[in-house]
Amino acid sequence: MITIRKYFFPETIEEAYETLMEKKSNALIGGGAYLKLGSKAMGTAVDLSKVGLDYIREEESAFEIGAMTTFSTVMLHEGLNKHFDNLFQRAIEDIVGMQLKNMVTIGATIYSRYGFSDFLTALLVTNTKVKLFNAGWISLNAFLENGPEKRDILEKIRIEKTNGLYRFQDLRGSSSDYSIINLALSKEKDAYRIAVGARPGRAKLAVKTMDFLQEREVTAENMEKAGAILSEEVVFGTNGRGSKEYRKAMAKVLLKKALQEVSIHEN
Ligand SMILES: Cc1cc2nc3c(=O)[nH]c(=O)nc-3n(C[C@H](O)[C@H](O)[C@H](O)COP(=O)(O)OP(=O)(O)OC[C@H]3O[C@@H](n4cnc5c(N)ncnc54)[C@H](O)[C@@H]3O)c2cc1C
Repeated sequence: MITIRKYFFPETIEEAYETLMEKKSNALIGGGAYLKLGSKAMGTAVDLSKVGLDYIREEESAFEIGAMTTFSTVMLHEGLNKHFDNLFQRAIEDIVGMQLKNMVTIGATIYSRYGFSDFLTALLVTNTKVKLFNAGWISLNAFLENGPEKRDILEKIRIEKTNGLYRFQDLRGSSSDYSIINLALSKEKDAYRIAVGARPGRAKLAVKTMDFLQEREVTAENMEKAGAILSEEVVFGTNGRGSKEYRKAMAKVLLKKALQEVSIHEN
């Protein structure tokens, strides 16, 4: 159960940050869905819903998405789906139900760097930067690797438009469970980006596999070799949803499926 001493709706991000930093027990509320699962005693709950961070802006070269934008808005956004081959739709559609997707926010998801996240795996194969209110812009990859230097507010993200192909693959016990393992892949010209998440650790780029595939043809032999590199370079673990060995084996399968899909699309 969470307990809240005071509930506050700031109208600017400056006000939100100031209040957050006043006391260690003060905490931000995004959609509030994940917070509700835990137990936390909050001093002041700083609800970001009136700060004006719920937007997707399409520019000529990028999309900017505010932290309070919900999963359903991202999933159904025509511009994003068209530009990224339904990458985010694929990553989000199997997450629980529409009611939850109408609540949960991208800002909380990215800032919390959840290991089980499907959205983060997909986002990692795009060219994305995150804007922290106090610390400024940082690449998504660096943020996921290192986290924030000190408490901050994730304000928005910027996804550059690239002329690539994008795929998302995941394995779940049943639809709406957490993923046992997930993988996203993008290909721009001859360069690949491959991210593996729910390992169960947080999403990570498979750099050696990406390098191996660069400028190589997608043949059965190369897919086999890429799978072997992937399963060696990525660290997998065991939890209630799956064993390390199972994840290792399934990651290879997901990579092969993603490569085949891209290759079919190109030919
Ligand atoms: C029942 C359930 C099942 C789920 N299943 C999946 C799944 O299968 N796959 C998947 O990818 N995800 C899943 N999720 C996670 C979900 O997608 C969101 O990532 C998660 O709920 C966080 O979003 P929220 O808006 O609810 O965060 P909140 O509960 O509001 O906040 C979570 C944390 O982020 C902090 N925070 C909020 N906003 C910001 C901000 N802008 N800047 C900095 N910190 C912030 C809060 O203080 C808190 O510590 C599930 C969530 C739930 C509740």
